[in-house]
Amino acid sequence: MKEIITAESAGFCFGVERAVNKVYEEIEKGGEIYTYGEIIHNELVVGDLEKKGVRVLKSREDLAALEKGTVIIRSHGVPKDIYDILSSKPGIRLVDATCPFVSKIHDIVREQSEKGRDIIVIGDASHPEVEGIVSYATGNVKVIKDEEEAQNCEFERGREVCAVAQTTFNLSKFEKLVEILRKKSYSIYDVNTVCSATRTRQEEARSIASKADAMIVIGSRRSSNTGKLYDICRECCAKTYLIQTLDDLNLEEAKSFSCVGITAGASTPKFIIEEVQNYVRRAEF
Ligand code: SF4
Repeated sequence: MKEIITAESAGFCFGVERAVNKVYEEIEKGGEIYTYGEIIHNELVVGDLEKKGVRVLKSREDLAALEKGTVIIRSHGVPKDIYDILSSKPGIRLVDATCPFVSKIHDIVREQSEKGRDIIVIGDASHPEVEGIVSYATGNVKVIKDEEEAQNCEFERGREVCAVAQTTFNLSKFEKLVEILRKKSYSIYDVNTVCSATRTRQEEARSIASKADAMIVIGSRRSSNTGKLYDICRECCAKTYLIQTLDDLNLEEAKSFSCVGITAGASTPKFIIEEVQNYVRRAEF
């Protein structure tokens, strides 16, 4: 009999669940509803919201052209100037679903910047969460994502530096990059801002992947935390598959596996995880 281990931490995290619930609450209230960017990286959820009349604002220009309605900010948060645009429009009601863990990083960056420290954000510069975090620095700020960038990162001698992480960054990699910066003799004040939901998810994925013959990671390729989960699982289990829905699952070559692990990114709804789990259970390997 095949053993299937599904991670308890798989699926919506607290921040994503809170944001998605806020959108459904606003639908109940009625009126014109917009999200600034897709509320989560999941086509099924975004499609369902679209059917219910929720529209997605894709850019600053879309936002600038809007004069009325409710605008929901997703869990990643937004750059500071987006708040300014929103609050300058009397016809717009803002519903802020920024995850409190992300808001905390905004506060740290603003405070540390105001104290005169330079800021290093360890994460992906093009990710909306990082774009938001960077906007709260009032002085020098840099974003680095790997060892090479940490080695090449230069700040003025004698400056104090505060390093924070994108919430979904790989914790051990964050520690490694801070260590590299420290060796360059910067006076580093580092704040581990990898969120606990991400940490638990990554640790559990690593532990399951190291036992499993095959590992299934469910989530969008556009989702940062899913990508990192995939990388972590691949390190421990060569047969790791990244799928968005059951339709992407092709386990033909995996019929001999006796232990299959399943985990999912923070934007994956529970019903997809259950579908995959039931399919794997039923499949005759
Ligand atoms: Fe919040 Fe963490 Fe979820 Fe990001 S991954 S939305 S920080 S709980």
